[in-house]
Amino acid sequence: MTASASAKAGDLPQQLAQVLGAGAVRSDADSLDFFAHDVFAQGARALCVVRPDSIAALQAAVRTCAAAGVAMVPRGGGASYTDGYLTNRPHVLFDLSALDFIEIDAANAMVRVGAGTTWAALKAALDPLGLRTPFWGPFSGIAASVGGSVSQNTISHGSGAHGISAQSVLGIEVVLADGTLLNTAASRATRHYGPDLTGLFTGDCGALGLKAALRSCQVKSHRTRYAPSGRI
Ligand SMILES: Cc1cc2nc3c(=O)[nH]c(=O)nc-3n(C[C@H](O)[C@H](O)[C@H](O)COP(=O)(O)OP(=O)(O)OC[C@H]3O[C@@H](n4cnc5c(N)ncnc54)[C@H](O)[C@@H]3O)c2cc1C
Repeated sequence: MTASASAKAGDLPQQLAQVLGAGAVRSDADSLDFFAHDVFAQGARALCVVRPDSIAALQAAVRTCAAAGVAMVPRGGGASYTDGYLTNRPHVLFDLSALDFIEIDAANAMVRVGAGTTWAALKAALDPLGLRTPFWGPFSGIAASVGGSVSQNTISHGSGAHGISAQSVLGIEVVLADGTLLNTAASRATRHYGPDLTGLFTGDCGALGLKAALRSCQVKSHRTRYAPSGRI
């Protein structure tokens, strides 16, 4: 961090509170301690924890951190147990759990979810329709988010038949380090018309951007048997 960036970082929590609203920024000791823990390990406390509740708010917070030259660390359900969101560098922790919208397009066999949506919430929304995504969550699915899981290429019971989490994803809306929103598969029905831009952001542990929303195709009946490619 440069000297001028360091000066800007000093009042970063206040700047973020102006951008997001005070209720979306936490810097009390209990919150900083909680978010500095993974299941087993502890990292450094963040400068503050932000909880944006829309993609636009996420972009605005990222732009503010970028201008201050401060690292940004995304967190979904916090169940990684691999220290995925822990760091000893000065950083702002992005709690993405408020990005939890679910849009079901049953006619086109697609679902778009906010990155912070838990697998349990997605299952609860699809069950009444008799639908499921090919990958339907890890054993930690009550807490684990779709964004966090795809960032870790999470596998689960049934992955041999249905593929891993990343294989259920058609496209990702990801906020890059300067606040730009990139949609990796805006209007496509498959990932494989050309280079797999979506695949670049799977298994990245959030290093390449903050996932805001994800789209899955091949949402089908519980009775459908899937091949890992997503084909029936
Ligand atoms: C009891 C238990 C059972 C588990 N079962 C399984 C299992 O069956 N299969 C399995 O593979 N794993 C399992 N895990 C490990 C872990 O829960 C999964 O990998 C889970 O998918 C992580 O999701 P999360 O939302 O908790 O991610 P987090 O822990 O919040 O984050 C994981 C990583 O992704 C990054 N990240 C999070 N959200 C975003 C985002 N929106 N954009 C960009 N990067 C992001 C973080 O920075 C971090 O590097 C289990 C863990 C526990 C504690």
